[in-house]
Amino acid sequence: MAQCKKCRKKGFFLHLDKNGVCDSCAESIRQRALEKARESERQLEEMKRKRQEVDRIVDEQLKRLNNAREEYEKTEEYDKLIAVYEDVFSAPTPWNAASHKLRLVGYYQKCKQWDKAWALLNAILLAYPDEVFRVRRAQYRQLKDEKKYNEALKMYLLYKYNDCKSITCWPDVKEREYNSFLKEAQSLAKKAKLDINAVPELADIFIELVESPRSSEATALKKFKAWYTKIAK
Ligand SMILES: [Zn+2]
Repeated sequence: MAQCKKCRKKGFFLHLDKNGVCDSCAESIRQRALEKARESERQLEEMKRKRQEVDRIVDEQLKRLNNAREEYEKTEEYDKLIAVYEDVFSAPTPWNAASHKLRLVGYYQKCKQWDKAWALLNAILLAYPDEVFRVRRAQYRQLKDEKKYNEALKMYLLYKYNDCKSITCWPDVKEREYNSFLKEAQSLAKKAKLDINAVPELADIFIELVESPRSSEATALKKFKAWYTKIAK
């Protein structure tokens, strides 16, 4: 006697398809497959719609930022630029906004809004760890502008360390980098009223850090601290 594999119905004249299921089971299987296909089509549409929505948001955000720059950058109306940038960034940015956020840092710095600039730099570093070099550079420049020369010197080491660690043709530029490090570090040390005769030692530390494959910002800070404690005595 024929028996449906699915509903277990039996009958002498029961018609089974090639999969061994009765007509009504075959029909319900067909319906379910159809529904599933429709559902995945719906999901695809939904994804497409969401993607378009994100694209629209990104376009609008970028357009507002670019328009604001066109309108206010030449005339140096930084307060207006800040207002537009802050408004755009009050919403999430579904794109890599690191460069634009660094621009906003620059506008804060121009207006001497140091705290806001600093907070944003920290936020950028958290969200975009790859930007460490640009963040450290901006932090060093800010500390210098704020005339915090001790801190600026420490940040200069971090900035140059991140800058030079990624250089592939290091031997070609080593001497130049050493000399420019020495020059800027001496100038900062002088302003910080530190012994500038100790600066070549810091420049050596800088070279050592760049050339050590296991160095990190943490080692750089540790070495700076040791150097600083020694000369501050
Ligand atoms: Zn059946």
